[in-house]
Amino acid sequence: MIVTRFAPSPTGYLHLGNARTAIFSYLFARHNGGRFILRIEDTDLERSTKEYEKMLLEDLVWLGLEWDEFYRQSERFDIYRKYAEKLVEMGHAYPCFCSSEELSMERDLAEKKGIPYRYSGKCRVLSADEVKKLKGSGKPYTIRFKVPYSEYVVFEDLIKGHISINTDDFGDFVIIRSDGTPTYNFVVVVDDALMGVTHVIRGEDHVPNTPKQILIYKALGFDVPKFAHLPVILGEDRSKLSKRHGAVSVKNYREEGYLPQALFNYLCLLGWSPPKEGREIYTKDELIELFDLKDVNTSPAVFSKEKLRWMNGIYIRQILDLEELLEKVIPFLSEAGYDVSNRDYLKKVLERTRDSFETLKDAVERLRPFFTDDFELSAEAWSELENVKVYNILSSFLEKIKDRELNSQSVKDIAREIQKELSVKAKDVWHSLRIALTGELQGVGVDIICDLLPKEKVEMRIRKMLQKIA
Ligand code: GLU
Repeated sequence: MIVTRFAPSPTGYLHLGNARTAIFSYLFARHNGGRFILRIEDTDLERSTKEYEKMLLEDLVWLGLEWDEFYRQSERFDIYRKYAEKLVEMGHAYPCFCSSEELSMERDLAEKKGIPYRYSGKCRVLSADEVKKLKGSGKPYTIRFKVPYSEYVVFEDLIKGHISINTDDFGDFVIIRSDGTPTYNFVVVVDDALMGVTHVIRGEDHVPNTPKQILIYKALGFDVPKFAHLPVILGEDRSKLSKRHGAVSVKNYREEGYLPQALFNYLCLLGWSPPKEGREIYTKDELIELFDLKDVNTSPAVFSKEKLRWMNGIYIRQILDLEELLEKVIPFLSEAGYDVSNRDYLKKVLERTRDSFETLKDAVERLRPFFTDDFELSAEAWSELENVKVYNILSSFLEKIKDRELNSQSVKDIAREIQKELSVKAKDVWHSLRIALTGELQGVGVDIICDLLPKEKVEMRIRKMLQKIA
């Protein structure tokens, strides 16, 4: 049975890169009929918060990443303590009494010499008596893992291939801090082993940690899982995707009106593509069907917000059914203060306008003419006003619709009549109407507005405009 896990630390909002890691782990488990575990890595009690944990869970649920098992590391300290003691008993770990001052001096020295820092190993050679005495004196201590000298730790990464790291590059590392809390490299092994994780899928920033973890697996007699380290995600300037590139958290995109299906689809294609497919839009079920780690690119992927936006637009225009789109857009419209109580009206509006916006937030702007009669004229619209005979056009329009039904066909006919009678350009007629009805020069087609808006509202807005410019 294939078992994967996603192991976020609740020290910030879910980042797009981590969301992609979660998606790949999820898809790999589902593709193979395996289990997907969510594990909250909150051993750093100072930086982890419940609020971030809550947000993480919300984002994962929103993305549709349902998990089969859930764990929280802060609830498992007893287990970690037991395994740390075991390592000490077996001679694979030892207490280290070096003070932080001593250690930072060692570190400074290494830096001056320009060599990578490695713990000196001073406490590795303490006798049992010395340890007893120091413990008795109440001196605080950490537990360090004893790393064999000058050995190569080798593993076959499922994405990066053969990796070999010399143990002299890192030296003895801390597994239990002096306050008794365990460190990441240690707990991750205990958990992955006890939870039966077969495939560790995570960001490539964890490659240097992997040999440390492999040594612990071996010391504790656990099976070593397979590793798949995902290449980083870059911004368009080819530097690592970070806050400098703007919105990078899932929360941001959720709030900006991106759809979970679109973000899921997009992130999935960020560094992975199914062979022989050549298309870009996939349902979650198709992705589960197609996903394989062997098709993950070895080189970093570049995140393009434009492309994500485009894909979101496709989901809005073509993929979501109208009911679903309605459900998704309602919170955004009501947040903007629109009256969304008439679902039928809203549905009609959406049906005719869904191809004019790419995010749910943009829908707020686009749909404004259908929900508010009060709007300011944009500066651009005012400048247009000086050039055309808006007044004549609008009065003529008002006159002409008096005894006629108003719909997308009649508005086109009327526009043509006005054009002829007043010798004005088609553009002048449409701009005048658009400005009167929406306050803007761009947006949803005037014909659609005339089709959907009650005639009294159209008349009222035109009259209001005439008063303004009289
Ligand atoms: N908590 C670690 C992180 O957020 C997990 C790394 C791992 O998957 O082993 O980077």
